[in-house]
Amino acid sequence: MKLGIVGLPNVGKSTLFNSLTKAGAESANYPFCTIDPNVGVVPVPDFRLKLLTDLYHSEKTTPAVIEFVDIAGLVKGASKGEGLGNQFLSNIREVDAIVHVVRCFEDPNVIHVDGSVDPLRDIETINLELIFSDIEILDRRIAKNGRGAANNKALAKEVELLKSLKAHLEDGKLAKSFPCDDEDTRDFINTLNLLTWKPVIFAANVSEDDLADDGASNEYVNQVRGFAAENDSEVFVICAQIEQEIAELDDDEKKEFLEDLGLKESGLEKLIAASYRLLGLISYLTAGEKETRAWTIKVGTKAPQAAGKIHSDFERGFIKAEVVNYQDLLDCGSYSAAKEKGLVRIEGKEYVVKDGDVVLFRFNV
Ligand code: GDP
Repeated sequence: MKLGIVGLPNVGKSTLFNSLTKAGAESANYPFCTIDPNVGVVPVPDFRLKLLTDLYHSEKTTPAVIEFVDIAGLVKGASKGEGLGNQFLSNIREVDAIVHVVRCFEDPNVIHVDGSVDPLRDIETINLELIFSDIEILDRRIAKNGRGAANNKALAKEVELLKSLKAHLEDGKLAKSFPCDDEDTRDFINTLNLLTWKPVIFAANVSEDDLADDGASNEYVNQVRGFAAENDSEVFVICAQIEQEIAELDDDEKKEFLEDLGLKESGLEKLIAASYRLLGLISYLTAGEKETRAWTIKVGTKAPQAAGKIHSDFERGFIKAEVVNYQDLLDCGSYSAAKEKGLVRIEGKEYVVKDGDVVLFRFNV
């Protein structure tokens, strides 16, 4: 999964990005790889991994990962080539969801590009840039398809759809609010890779004082929550500055620090939970002496496709899956004990893999 971080300058994007990638690198002892300075790979925290690793005495533990792309430099006029311009907008086109950081903290020392804290205006500014950029994509596609549309009904139909989508965007609306029920249309729009078609998670960046009640008494946060509710998006409250401090701590210190702040989870954990919810993702596990590992799949994924996450051969040669819930496995104390109790099920091609399943795939090569 790949998430792109956007937001106006000075809202706390880099602070958040740095703390996320650092926290991830420290907490799971994961070989933190920086693909480039703006891309960080962060492990998905999963308490089940440690429990299974201990049970199997696994040599290696591999968490699922999320890739973050820090898309700095989105300013008014970006789609028209100001700032970093369109080249970096193309970076966001590849992400599965957008994390939109919104400034909800007051601090006279941190200048706001538009002079005041106003999350709804900021969201609109960023959204307009994304909309402009999408309109350009549509224009190009309309021009390309238009050439062949005269003698091709399918192309002509596409052009018609592209034009009504464009009209929708020109009204200042996001592609994802475009009314379309039928799956073919949605599949087609999917292929366009429009920025405003992507799911959005708002990160409301607050000051430390607003963390304890999850931003409930911060009017700016409430505005963002209202906007997100109307736009089918998720919100999570974060203090990027505190996250940076948390990222420096080891696991025990972190727990204590969070408790002192009255928090159960770090910002990274909140963000991952929000993105899993929004994108409909779950994790299943594989466990053994060599390696215990978590794999990310979409809710509703059947066993062969889940196996395909590990290797395409597993999907192609899929025979069956041996499945046990991680808790049952832990309660029994061993795989063979779970088997004896009848808690290991044999599942076929139609089995829908569940969150927390520990799976052993049988396949032909
Ligand atoms: P970016 O331009 O969106 O990447 O913003 P930065 O992450 O560089 O942050 C801009 C400034 O705001 C920096 O001086 C940060 O230290 C400060 N900042 C970031 N998050 C917070 C926060 O939660 N509270 C306060 N008071 N300042 C913050």
